Amino acid sequence: MSWSRREFLERSAALSAAGFLPRLPGAWEAPAPVAGTPFRGRPCVVSSSNGIRGVQVAYDRMVAGEDPLDAAIAGVNIQELDPDDQSVGLGGLPNEEGVVQLDASCMHGPTRRAGAVACLEGIATPSLVAKAVMDYTDHVMLVGEGAGRFARAMGFKEQNLLTDKSRQDWMRWKSRLNPNDAWLDHSEDIRIKFTTGTINMNAVNAAGDIGSVTTTSGMAWKVPGRIGDSPIVGAGQYCDNTVGAAGSTGRGEANIKTCGAFLVVEFMRQGAPPQQACLKALERVVAMTEARLLGPGGRPRFDLEFYAVTKAGDFGGATLYSGGRFAVCDERGARLEAAASLFRR
Ligand code: ASP
Repeated sequence: MSWSRREFLERSAALSAAGFLPRLPGAWEAPAPVAGTPFRGRPCVVSSSNGIRGVQVAYDRMVAGEDPLDAAIAGVNIQELDPDDQSVGLGGLPNEEGVVQLDASCMHGPTRRAGAVACLEGIATPSLVAKAVMDYTDHVMLVGEGAGRFARAMGFKEQNLLTDKSRQDWMRWKSRLNPNDAWLDHSEDIRIKFTTGTINMNAVNAAGDIGSVTTTSGMAWKVPGRIGDSPIVGAGQYCDNTVGAAGSTGRGEANIKTCGAFLVVEFMRQGAPPQQACLKALERVVAMTEARLLGPGGRPRFDLEFYAVTKAGDFGGATLYSGGRFAVCDERGARLEAAASLFRR
């Protein structure tokens, strides 16, 4: 049978209105609320491993009643303001011109809102600026100079984000450049040693309300203006209050092409537990990897990590290569857990 587009739309609208949208076998469903009884889940915060201090802070604030997104942002603020964490905020590694450009995005499950900033300069907490975009504008994403102007208008204080240590690392990188270098073939050791780092944090409270945030200084030595996955809603982080949240760290270029965080949440919606959902998204990343980035045996020459939590407080994480860990805090306290992986390192 073939339907015209109009017939199809009318039919879908009628089915959906009647509550008959097709569901895949095993699709995840929030337990049906018993009349008068609110949803009860397990509070849980999951993040990249550098969030080991932040998950505890976020968890404590959340169980004390703070909104899960505000709690998660308070958790990532610790790394953003730590000059020794060279992957985010103050002290983040700069672009090829020595300028620190920051990216962040966040999502709030209960209100289904999102905010993001990219290429933000001079403000140490892009996660809070992303939240301000979400709270105070009719937009989702601001970039570059406009994002900076908005942040200053909102009262964020400007400061020099380039620490001495990051400046010296940048100078060292620069001194090794030669006129024949190309962006695509800089040496392996530089790429692995300096280019990755970010913090993603996802928090769910006992009522099953969820918040997610990702913040980063992006890939070190990037071309000015480069934007990674972190500020892209659906790539760097994603949250659907009926299912769960997910986020990522690692090579943003690979994640953007697969809309990774959204994909993880969709796999959970279809019934996959969080760890399985992360692994399935990584399989898609490998399938979408361009030939120049594949090494022996078709293995990607980069790493990427996903972290996920469900509305009920189940969590998981997975990385392309073994040995990865992620941070979690629940009623058992803050700890690092081993991530599942697709390949042995
Ligand atoms: N995902 C970040 C980006 O591509 C970097 C990272 O996590 O290492 O900007």
